[in-house]
Amino acid sequence: NATIYYEDDADANYLSGKTVAVLGYGSQGHAHAQNLADSGVDVVVGLREDSSSRAAAKEDGLEVATAKEAAAKADVVSVLVPDTVQPAVYEEIKDELEAGNTLQFAHGFNIHYNQIKPKDGIDVTMVAPKSPGHLVRRNYEAGEGTPGLVAVYQDETGEAKERALAYAQAIGCARAGVVETSFREETETDLFGEQAVLCGGVTSLVKTGYETLVDAGYSPEMAYFECLNELKLIVDLMYEGGLGEMWDSVSDTAEYGGLTRGDVVVDDHARERMEEVLEQVQNGEFARQWIVENQAGRPSYTQLREAEGNHEIEQVGEELRALFAWAEEKETEEDKESPV
Ligand code: NDP
Ligand code: MG
Ligand code: MG
Repeated sequence: NATIYYEDDADANYLSGKTVAVLGYGSQGHAHAQNLADSGVDVVVGLREDSSSRAAAKEDGLEVATAKEAAAKADVVSVLVPDTVQPAVYEEIKDELEAGNTLQFAHGFNIHYNQIKPKDGIDVTMVAPKSPGHLVRRNYEAGEGTPGLVAVYQDETGEAKERALAYAQAIGCARAGVVETSFREETETDLFGEQAVLCGGVTSLVKTGYETLVDAGYSPEMAYFECLNELKLIVDLMYEGGLGEMWDSVSDTAEYGGLTRGDVVVDDHARERMEEVLEQVQNGEFARQWIVENQAGRPSYTQLREAEGNHEIEQVGEELRALFAWAEEKETEEDKESPV
């Protein structure tokens, strides 16, 4: 099992007197920058000249510069622009990285798939909160922590892990626990999870269930409630108390039916398909496809998004969700952001 680090395992001295450049001021960027600053670390935010994020960073009392200028000042450069943009931003700043500096990430994609080939002489680390940025900030302000991951890809100083743990402490993750991993493991499990289970798997399960009911003559409204709306109740129970709490909370009929039929639907065929999906993550085929797709201006991504938006379940859902308007108001837009 993985090693988990806590507050006592981290030593703030590894960051004291150092300057951290936070590149990007979006979901993760705004949270890391403000938490680091509140923990007493010198922070400079790196953004392009015409960035729409500049105003927010300044309003939050932070120094703002271009990515290159920020990197020049910094001992630690935290790369928190979108993953597809990171290789270009690295080209901009790489000459500013001096021996002994740290290049810090919150996701391993670009390093693991060689889209960024970090120069020699620097440390390359990852501290990845397992939560969207606004929660990383909110928890920190409340004196609580957000669980995170820590990994070292390149250790030139011999202190890469200690420095990463100090960073994890400064953004509040060590208060909750930081799980040790590698760039490879983080990247591959993240991609597999979002493809096979979380984003891809769940939407396909929902759509196929919905279509099966509607094709058999049941009303779209009933199909929507059973296959999509109720999913939240089930997921909330699993999140709180694992599969057991969910099974304990549903009726015995639901439990028996689920235990006897679940594996009939997600059967050995589905398992083999999952293994294929994992293989394409491991051998780099998915990464290549996504990189080429971006280079081509995202033609098939655009088409797929449009088709998904046109699925009948989306129209039915829009009408029915209006009935739940009272519940929606309690949840902010930010609460719907996702870390995957
Ligand atoms: P965001 O999409 O929120 O980043 C937006 C920021 O990046 C803005 O400040 C934006 O400024 C800047 N930016 C966008 N495009 C460019 C560009 N072309 N050049 C320079 N700056 C640009 O990113 P996230 O916070 O979601 O992700 C950052 C990293 O954190 C990624 O590696 C991601 O995988 C990882 N991560 C994200 C999590 C999440 O919950 N979101 C969770 C865990 C890890 P501008 O106004 O200039 O566009
Ligand atoms: Mg029911
Ligand atoms: Mg992901």
